[in-house]
Amino acid sequence: MYDYDLLVVGSANADLVVGVERRPAAGETVLGSDLAVHPGGKGANQAVAAARLGARTALLARVGDDAYGRLLLDTQRAAGVDTVGVLVGGAPTGVALITVDPSGDNSIVVAPGANARLAPGDVRAAACLLQASRVVSAQLEIPLETVEEIVRNLPDGGRFVLNPSPPRPLPRAVLDACDPLIVNEHEARVILGASATDGTPEEWARLLLARGPRSVVVTLGAGGALAADAQGVTRVPSVPVRAVDTTGAGDAFTAALAWRLGAGAPLREAAAYAARVGAAAVTRRGAQESFPTAEEVAAL
Ligand code: ADP
Repeated sequence: MYDYDLLVVGSANADLVVGVERRPAAGETVLGSDLAVHPGGKGANQAVAAARLGARTALLARVGDDAYGRLLLDTQRAAGVDTVGVLVGGAPTGVALITVDPSGDNSIVVAPGANARLAPGDVRAAACLLQASRVVSAQLEIPLETVEEIVRNLPDGGRFVLNPSPPRPLPRAVLDACDPLIVNEHEARVILGASATDGTPEEWARLLLARGPRSVVVTLGAGGALAADAQGVTRVPSVPVRAVDTTGAGDAFTAALAWRLGAGAPLREAAAYAARVGAAAVTRRGAQESFPTAEEVAAL
């Protein structure tokens, strides 16, 4: 019996957003809108998305002993995430400094802060949390050594889901553990390197599968997704919606997929559900603010 349907190991950031008429050039100062502060980071986003759907969810992350860290803890708890695994201190809370112009183009500077201090030893110290979780999911906004340590500490029969974002080449031991590896088109290209040139998403799915994961999902935005495993590559249709903001769609998709797989759903069925969750998330502004409940997904 597992205490958690999903343990998310990953980043927690404060997103500091300012609207500007024009993003500044080097040496230039521009005036912007009032500052908006949003809870973000891929780990924190995935945990909120899963909990909002009804998954029993825990987060293993590190935040600073500061106001942004408290904001992140509060929003996780408000969504129903167990924060027993959120470590406090060691560096300031991670921050993303985001300027957005009227066309929606943005410039982002990330100060990883405490996320960069989530260490392999923190994973070993949280062994009980890992053992109590049916599925463990991670992203790459924390050190790769920490992700490698997760893979070494997975419970017997436990499942590991990785969204390698921001992407980088991955060691074989990490690839072998993924079930599935979830990538968008950009992430697929970076992980495949030269072999991705001129390929189609179907070909990337097959090439990625050959690198070791037991399954692979390629997300294609409004084009839906591809699910690939030993049975072949299948297209998962997207759900037609009027998209207003795609921020966090991938995080909502990943969280939903990980949760449904843990509940025993086959890959294609879980991916179809995740596509509904991703579609619901793009109909509202923001990241965590846009994630749907299970009732909202059913009503879509
Ligand atoms: P990422 O944010 O990681 O780039 P995607 O943009 O591929 O991820 O989105 C993840 C999933 O969310 C997609 O596979 C799809 O199911 C859903 N989704 C994203 N954008 C849309 C959209 N405009 N309309 C419908 N579904 C969408």
